[in-house]
This record gives sequence, C-alpha cells and structure tokens, in this order.
Amino acid sequence: MFDLLVRGGTLPDGTVADIGIRGERIAAVGRLDGAEAGEVIDAAGDLVSPPFVDPHFHMDAVLSYGTPRVNASGTLLEGIALWGELRELATVDDLVERALAYCDWAVSMGLLAIRSHVDTTPDHLRGVEALLEVKRRVAPYLDLQLVAFPQDGLYRTPTGRANLIRALDRGVDVVGGIPHFERTMEEGRASVRDLCEIAAERGLRIDLHCDETDDPLSRHVETLAFEVQRLGLQGRAAGSHLTSMHSMDNYYVSKLLPLIAEAEVAAIPNPLINITLQGRHDTYPKRRGLTRVKEMQAHGITVGWGQDCVLDPWYSLGTADMLDVAFMGLHVAQMTHPAEMRRCFDMVTLDNARILGLDGYGLAPGDRASLVVLDAGDPVEALRLRPARLAVVSAGKVVARAPRGDAALALPGRDARVRRRHRPA
Ligand SMILES: [Zn+2]
Repeated sequence: MFDLLVRGGTLPDGTVADIGIRGERIAAVGRLDGAEAGEVIDAAGDLVSPPFVDPHFHMDAVLSYGTPRVNASGTLLEGIALWGELRELATVDDLVERALAYCDWAVSMGLLAIRSHVDTTPDHLRGVEALLEVKRRVAPYLDLQLVAFPQDGLYRTPTGRANLIRALDRGVDVVGGIPHFERTMEEGRASVRDLCEIAAERGLRIDLHCDETDDPLSRHVETLAFEVQRLGLQGRAAGSHLTSMHSMDNYYVSKLLPLIAEAEVAAIPNPLINITLQGRHDTYPKRRGLTRVKEMQAHGITVGWGQDCVLDPWYSLGTADMLDVAFMGLHVAQMTHPAEMRRCFDMVTLDNARILGLDGYGLAPGDRASLVVLDAGDPVEALRLRPARLAVVSAGKVVARAPRGDAALALPGRDARVRRRHRPA
C-alpha cells in the first residue's frame, strides 16, 4: 500500500515505470501492477521528471518590474542603479509578499529548488531578513538556498564586507561576490581570494557573479579556479554568468578551461539575461554574450542553466519556467543535436541539483518524493512545447495540478481537438 502512486509515466531516460511513494520518500520504481494507493496519478504516456532546479535567481528583486521605473537603456548598469533605489523603498512585508508570489509560480511550474542571491549591501539588510523568512515558510515544499551577494561590491562601500559577514552569521547559506564590479581589476582579484577564504573557513559553498561583462580581459574565473584549488573547495564552487568568456582570446580559453575543470568549479550561464544585457555597447556584429557552454561540457565542467531574473530592473519578462530558460540556452548555444537538446533538459534538472548539492534528488527508491508530470512524451518534446505541468509532487504531496494544453478546433473534416505532441513514426 502506497500513499501515492504515479502510474505508467515515461522517465527522462525513456523507461516506462510506476512510482510508489510512502510519506516523503519514493518507495518503489518499476512495474507495480495491482499495487494499491491512497491516491493515484495516471501518467500513462506522460513524461515524469525529477523537479526543475534553478541555480541562479534574485528573489529580493522579483516581480518589481517598473518600480520605481523601467530600465530604459536595457543595460546591467542601469539595472543595478534602479535596484539601488528600489531596495531603499521596499519594506520587509513587500519583499516577503513578492517572493512568496514567485514561489507559487515556481511550484506551479514544477520548479522546487531555487538558489537565490540576496543583496547584502544596505546596512538595514531587509532583503536578508525577508528571504530568510520566506525560506522558512516555503521549506515544506520548496528548497530555497540563499547566497550573500554584495551587489555594490565587497570593497566599494564602507560596510560591504561587514554586511556580507552579518548575513552569513544570520544563516545565509552560500558566499557570493561580484569581482568585475569592484573598483579595479586588482580589487576584484582580492575580493575573490577573500570570499574563497570566508567560504573555506565557514565550510560553505561559494557562487560568484563572475565576469558578467563583455570585456575579454575580465578573467576573475581564473582566480576563482586557483583559490578553490588552494583552499580545497573543489565541487563546492560556481561561477555565474562568465559572459566575458564569449569574447576571450581562444588561446587563453584553451588554457583556462582545463583549470576550471581541475578545480571542479561549476558554471551557471543565464541565457535569457545574458542575451539581453550583454553586447549593448556593440554595433554590428553584435555579440551574444553567452559563455562557452558546449566547450566547458566537453571538458567535464558541470554547466547549469539559470533563470536569474523575472520582472525586475534587469529583465521585463519571465515565467518561472526552467524550460523557457533551457529553450533559450539551446538556441543561443546552438545545442541542436538530439544529445545536446537532451543535455539541456538535464541541465535544468540533474546538473542544477548537483550545483546546489541537493540531497535525495532523483527518481530512485529512497529519493525524496518530488517530481513533475509534464504534458509531453520525452525531454526534447518538453523543451519544444514547454507544456502544462499536469501534476507537481513535493515531498510526497501533490502541490499543483494543471489541465492539458489541448485546443478545440472548428475545421470541417478535421479532428475537433488539436494537441501538438508528436511521436515520430
Ligand atoms: Zn544574478
């Protein structure tokens, strides 16, 4: 007897299986004919995946688009300036309310683990207070991992470093930074060293906004890889964005990628944001600004797609759908081979879970019973359709349901219903 049974779903690897759940854990996977359960989800023919994971987000800024006004230039720097005004206006209640609203969207899309940066620049630390409260409130159904992020630089404000430490003391999980935004290249390099030492001393993970610029000489990821190795942080560090790598000299990159691989530093490109914020100073040809995804994967570097922003000073769209993110990444990185498309789906599930260090993530017996049932037949079809999440299960409980995306047709001699799913002959 199971508490919940997901019957006949197609797993991402193509296996058709039933999933029996007891309490918060997966109890059995395979053919469970005749099994009884308190509740049954009939997933016959539908894709059943572990939940989506977002490794890079800003939940303190989410759903604030247009406050105090929109980003007219569309640049990263105007976004940072706008956010500087907004964070002084927002109350803890505003921040909590916007973040919880976004978490509702996330759950409805099967996105059940998010790593969010939280700005630690202002002395009031209202963002930290708010997101620690949100983390506590969503914990039963969504894993929220927080990164202490000195948005204005570790050294550019008098209290930048002290406030980052205060945030970590209050329980923020991960050490963040922004070396390319420090006053000089030298201060940027020093900030990477300093932040890696803080992470090592405290036994924390580290995830830096790193080289988010079109400047090919922004090479802080090199320092990050070096310090990670020096301090034994392998497998616990990530470089977010790494957009300068798009513009770097090819010979230099051929030396850099093995260093990143050796240090087991993960990479987190954010394609929706990188493609819109980068290259704004270019005429034509205009750079894409996305880091070298396929080349890093070929070196064995873990690369995960991140969402970064939804309706905030940097990005005017967004839906909490990691399939939108992977879809954009697939196009910009030209990952169109079937194996590469498949990899894009893994990047927003398995690879991102590895970056966050999630425990019990997966669809094997003993794993946490969290999954999503999609109106698609396989991972590539899910990317193509970005379809309805028919059911979302978190820790053994059904937390969201949605109807299929079929449309009614009124055409003579044609079927009355159209579904854009497609099974090749
Ligand atoms: Zn970011």
